[in-house]
Amino acid sequence: MNFEFLSADEGVFLFKNVSLAELMYVGNELRKIQKPDSVGKNGKKGKVTWQIDRNVNTTNVCIANCKFCNFYRIPGHAESYITDLESYKTKIEETFRYGGDQLLLQGGHHPELGLKFYTDLFRQLKKLYPKLKLHALGPPEVAHITKLENSTHAKVLKALIESGMDSLPGAGAEILNDRVRRLISNGKCGGKEWLDVMRAAHQLNITTSATMMFGHVETLYERFEHLVWIREVQNEKPKNAKGFLAFIPWTFQDADTILADVKGVHNKVTGEEYLRMIAMSRIMLPNILNIQASWLTVGKEIAQLSLHAGANDFGSIMIEENVVSAAGAPHRFTAKKIQSAIREAGFEPQLRDQQYEYRTLPAAIEEQVVSY
Ligand code: SF4
Repeated sequence: MNFEFLSADEGVFLFKNVSLAELMYVGNELRKIQKPDSVGKNGKKGKVTWQIDRNVNTTNVCIANCKFCNFYRIPGHAESYITDLESYKTKIEETFRYGGDQLLLQGGHHPELGLKFYTDLFRQLKKLYPKLKLHALGPPEVAHITKLENSTHAKVLKALIESGMDSLPGAGAEILNDRVRRLISNGKCGGKEWLDVMRAAHQLNITTSATMMFGHVETLYERFEHLVWIREVQNEKPKNAKGFLAFIPWTFQDADTILADVKGVHNKVTGEEYLRMIAMSRIMLPNILNIQASWLTVGKEIAQLSLHAGANDFGSIMIEENVVSAAGAPHRFTAKKIQSAIREAGFEPQLRDQQYEYRTLPAAIEEQVVSY
């Protein structure tokens, strides 16, 4: 198998002209080659990985005005907040009780919070909880801090790593084409800058992930161009760096968003279309090992089918998630439920960390109480 790269045009052609069954078959076969542990042997089922972490928002103050976001508040708004240390402590201790080892730490583009705010915060959290992992910020926030500091991506990333950041999530990619970004997230960094932040992160051997939010104003070609650009950045990484550990495609959640209410843009991605995108992600991205199904946005059944279309990872139980949930994503999993969903799909659940290394399931996990 030589894993030659397909062009964006070839991807569009396959997406449009090949049956779902055939695409799923190819995606599934490639998953078996790329992730041998996901293949059952000697009577044992193949492994599908999952994670326990907690999404904590540093602040909801944001000047980016993304049209799909119900989470942010403008500076000075009565409901605006910056998370205080006591709240972090409560949430971290709860995360440990639920078996988690990591915070997914993200927030808005606060106009007054520069690099020192984040480096002080990371140092404080690591001093209090040395074993805690920080999967923190994302390329748009790094780009925003870089502008506030009149610095460079590399210098900002280096300072963040030195103060305790462990890995950089691939948040805020949406669709990387700037035509789309101007329409839905004009205040965020452009597509090229998103990719440049990731290039700088890989040079510093910071592990990252990549995402795609689709099903809004993008064309099919723009989705495939997005995959090609991510693949190219992965191809440029230094040999010793892991680069993008995973690719996570998820669907635009439209409830009460400006995009839906004012612009009339609704998410029309069907289960079939999502499965096609999972299979095509596996086919288009031979240099990214993990493809994650987004149960949060497509629900349990489609996420389970994704495991037979090229995906090998079920993501995190997300103890707290605000941005996507604020836009109507109705799905929730606890540690027990995510594992039984993986078993129902024919695999053995395997807890992992952010580096995709296996973790032993902690002996005592407090089952999370979920309010639907
Ligand atoms: S998605 Fe992020 S960057 Fe965009 S408005 Fe919401 S908080 Fe700000």
